[in-house]
Amino acid sequence: MGQDQEPKLTTAEGRPIGDMQNSMTAGPRGPLMMQDVQLLEQMQQFNRERIPERVVHAKGTAAHGTFTVTHDVTKYTKAAFLSDVGKKTDVFLRFSTVAGEKGAADAERDVRGFALKFYTEEGNWDMVGNNTPVFFIRDPLKFAHFIHTQKRHPKTNMRDMDMQWDFWSQCPESLHQVTILFSDRGLPKTLRHVNGYGSHTYSFVNDKNERVWVKFHFKTKQGIKTMTDAESAELIGKDRESHQRDLYESIKKGDFPQWRFCIQVMTDEQAKSFKWNPFDLTKVWPHAEFPLIEVGTLELNRNPENYHAEVEQSSFSPSSLVPGIEPSPDKMLQARLMSYADAHRYRVGTNYQQLDINKPKCPYANYHRDGSMTSAEYGSKPNYFPNTLEGTPKDDPAHKECPMPLETDDAGQVVADRYNSRVDHDDYTQAGDLWRLMPEDERDRAANAIAGALGQAREKVQMLQLCHFFRADPDYGARVAKALNIEISEEMLAHAAGK
Ligand code: NDP
Repeated sequence: MGQDQEPKLTTAEGRPIGDMQNSMTAGPRGPLMMQDVQLLEQMQQFNRERIPERVVHAKGTAAHGTFTVTHDVTKYTKAAFLSDVGKKTDVFLRFSTVAGEKGAADAERDVRGFALKFYTEEGNWDMVGNNTPVFFIRDPLKFAHFIHTQKRHPKTNMRDMDMQWDFWSQCPESLHQVTILFSDRGLPKTLRHVNGYGSHTYSFVNDKNERVWVKFHFKTKQGIKTMTDAESAELIGKDRESHQRDLYESIKKGDFPQWRFCIQVMTDEQAKSFKWNPFDLTKVWPHAEFPLIEVGTLELNRNPENYHAEVEQSSFSPSSLVPGIEPSPDKMLQARLMSYADAHRYRVGTNYQQLDINKPKCPYANYHRDGSMTSAEYGSKPNYFPNTLEGTPKDDPAHKECPMPLETDDAGQVVADRYNSRVDHDDYTQAGDLWRLMPEDERDRAANAIAGALGQAREKVQMLQLCHFFRADPDYGARVAKALNIEISEEMLAHAAGK
């Protein structure tokens, strides 16, 4: 196309198009001609405009931005993008609701996804988190089952409160996250007013190959703002895209939201004596014992140009790690290291990492080849390693991962087994801690929100779940029971106390 010429409309193969408003027909009233390849291309392409939506986190909104280092954390990590105060890295942040499908309303009670891609000079680091510091389960074998309860019932094709609470009542490790979900934070006012958390424990490794365990926190500089159930119902009636609209409009008018990136750090020594399993995704590390350490500022400052190309095809995986950031033994994290990239290979395609939004902005080279929709970027370069050829990519021992210590039994052995993920776990104290820090009016709102949902479950499920609330805090159980209009007997209190 010449500089001063109008762009010429063509088929996907480049053939110029003469008429884009009238199909080719045998006579003015039809029928259509099979040889109208332009029409065929258009309809066939249209049939393929959608890719499968994500099973979870389907409804998303995202923006580009910048991360700036404000504090020196090089004693903990050799991550290159954190090496100097003032250093900037491009980022892409996708928010989402978890349960709703692609067309679901934004302002629903749900956890929010907070998936952040850092395009660093040593590859992409994906911090695939949520707006909550914990999760509903601690063993990945329960994950698909849990998500089934959040989606649609196999018969009615409707969301089903009995299914949700039945599962939660059988998995009390969910109580902490359930308490957050039904607290005010379960209904954020906008996405600019949520915190982000890595939730899992990860490792930071420094240039001496020393490891500390870390948790990631992104604290909104806009402050936490939430809605009541009544406000959200009213908003959903008016605008199903309220969160997307707010983020898009804010960025468009130059009101760029910011978050403070902080970490909590735990040494391996501290991990051994910590009162909870530091790798249990249903637990937080108390701020008083592990204070937040400031690292940098995240700013969102550019809307995507094309929603599908950037937001829908953006693919985040906890397995996208960079030197200086490594996993922990957290079972949920370990499973996600596999399942996220696997989901993208299925949903977007084998070569999803070649798409502009997903590929690293630093130089990269590998020996992966072929598969559906591969680009020609590797040309005639060799597809095997090791090789004796000049100028081919080589591994570098400087980037070997830090050896990870494993737990041993009394005989000093590492023993593979199906360890009971409920034994020695306290599912109640931290949920109770959260309840106790909520002001009175928030407790009432939470109890009413729980009753509104739990009241739709079978009576047996209601009673089982009430026991869990009582175990977390007697006031918690009593308020929910009152909101459900259930009389609490001495027998029930004794049962709950039995844990
Ligand atoms: P702290 O008093 O030190 O921490 C309280 C933290 O609770 C606050 O800093 C805030 O986290 C968070 N918080 C306040 N209200 C709510 C709410 N309605 N829903 C969710 N989080 C809320 O006590 P602990 O560190 O011992 O934590 C007590 C409880 O606070 C935990 O059981 C957990 O439920 C919750 N919490 C703790 C976090 C942690 O990392 N320690 C992080 C988030 C929640 P923030 O500053 O991140 O907004």
